[in-house]
Amino acid sequence: VYRSGGDSGPQHGHGKTSQGVQSVSIDLSKEEVLVEAALTSTEVQSLIERTGRRAVLKGIGGSKQDLGAAVAMLSGAGSIQGVVRFLQVSEEDCLIDGTIDGLEPGPHGLHVHTLGDLTQDCLSCGEHYNPFGKQHGGPGDSERHVGDLGNIVAGPDGRASFRLEDRQLKVWDVIGRSLVVDSGEDDLGRGGHSLSKLTGNSGDGLACGIIARSAGLFQNPKKICACDGVTLWEERDRPVAGKGRSKINPETPPAHL
Ligand SMILES: [Zn+2]
Repeated sequence: VYRSGGDSGPQHGHGKTSQGVQSVSIDLSKEEVLVEAALTSTEVQSLIERTGRRAVLKGIGGSKQDLGAAVAMLSGAGSIQGVVRFLQVSEEDCLIDGTIDGLEPGPHGLHVHTLGDLTQDCLSCGEHYNPFGKQHGGPGDSERHVGDLGNIVAGPDGRASFRLEDRQLKVWDVIGRSLVVDSGEDDLGRGGHSLSKLTGNSGDGLACGIIARSAGLFQNPKKICACDGVTLWEERDRPVAGKGRSKINPETPPAHL
């Protein structure tokens, strides 16, 4: 279990155990590790796995009562895929935690689009989610689409792992809509291109996923995914979506449920 507070201020100072980690508690009977951290869930997972043990993410939550959580599984052309989680940690703040693999290294625009319609892949997702009729902008601007999340940056390995906090986007407004990662960099409305004030001129949608309601911390006791019978441990070794997901991996140890 990974707990992620929207605020990682001094009120959580239980002594630093690792860079960006405020506290760790382990419950052997439940096979759970609770980590309070200002890191992405992928970073927390790799820190835990550095001990030689395997870990799967069961949920994320804030230190206060969460106001809703959602998840988008992104897939698209080629091998691009990812998981992005949304957690409303307060009325104001939405935490957006994600990892997307298979991208060209460099910046890519990330936006919530109006429609949760993937019938024509990312083309049927509609425009950037813009309930207040504003111009396109950057996440720190007041003049922006609510769906404007700026850029994520993929490293040389093609992975973008990110943790954003947003004060305009609310989980309850975006469930049922879609999240799209674009081929190019979002100019945040400042590029002077004819598309800058509309889309940030960030190119085509490469991968997209519908934003669906999900469980918050401790709300999900499942150990087997009802959708395809994959256990949490088997799931650990599979792609989050796509063809490889149902493939049997002989390396996966049996799950002791
Ligand atoms: Zn926009």
